[in-house]
Amino acid sequence: MNGDSAHKIAARGNIVSGATLKSSLELDIMREAGRVVAFAVRKAFEALEHGITTIELDNIARQAIESQGAKPGFLGLYGFPSTACISINEEIVHGIPSDRIVQSGDIVTMDCGAIVDGYNSDHAVTKLVGFSSSEKHGLISTTLGSLERGIQAAQPGNRVGDISSAVENHVRKSSFEVVREYVGHGIGRDLHEPPQVPNFGPGGHGLVLQPGLVLAIEPMVNAGSWKTRMADDGWTVVTEDGALSCHFEHTVAITEDGPVVLTVE
Ligand code: MG
Ligand code: MG
Repeated sequence: MNGDSAHKIAARGNIVSGATLKSSLELDIMREAGRVVAFAVRKAFEALEHGITTIELDNIARQAIESQGAKPGFLGLYGFPSTACISINEEIVHGIPSDRIVQSGDIVTMDCGAIVDGYNSDHAVTKLVGFSSSEKHGLISTTLGSLERGIQAAQPGNRVGDISSAVENHVRKSSFEVVREYVGHGIGRDLHEPPQVPNFGPGGHGLVLQPGLVLAIEPMVNAGSWKTRMADDGWTVVTEDGALSCHFEHTVAITEDGPVVLTVE
């Protein structure tokens, strides 16, 4: 994809009228949904070690969500069979939990959602298992840093493209590349609401960020090329060149006082 296409995607937010602004009551509910999913991912990743299967991690996340009186947000959505997407190494997003055994040196992403009173949260964390290379540490720190830049750009009065460019500009300082075919999104009663929030593209474009807008900001960063392909299972998105990929995501509310991360305990 070239810069022109990137611009078109980033600018799409301008013409989306479906972006919903949440009331303070709705934001309180979404904060609880965010707390629950942060709890679930933490509990699952406390068990992350060499030898555990991805379905065991998924079961921990599901039990954690249900223990809080919430519902898994991904289970059954679009036909997805599990509570969490678990994507390892060259897998970018949408990996399906299975009897696959986690190995020392893997980088494992858990992407998970919870529903409280009809409102969604969306949260992803990537973690390294055991000892590993400096490239893996660098990929994780760059991706996390790009998320932090994106969140800082989510100020009222800024535009969606300011988030996109903040993420991309941080990743460009490294040799890594931002995934272009999958993007962040608005979130609320639906997991995926307008606007799209690309992780690339020019600042100053797209929907103006207003208090009450809630966005899932989620950079996906590849150690090689940004290009992706679909795995044979029809769900898992992998890097085209087989290089490693990393993903972090927070659900973030735009408020008068700036961005507030909802997916924290
Ligand atoms: Mg997600
Ligand atoms: Mg998301």
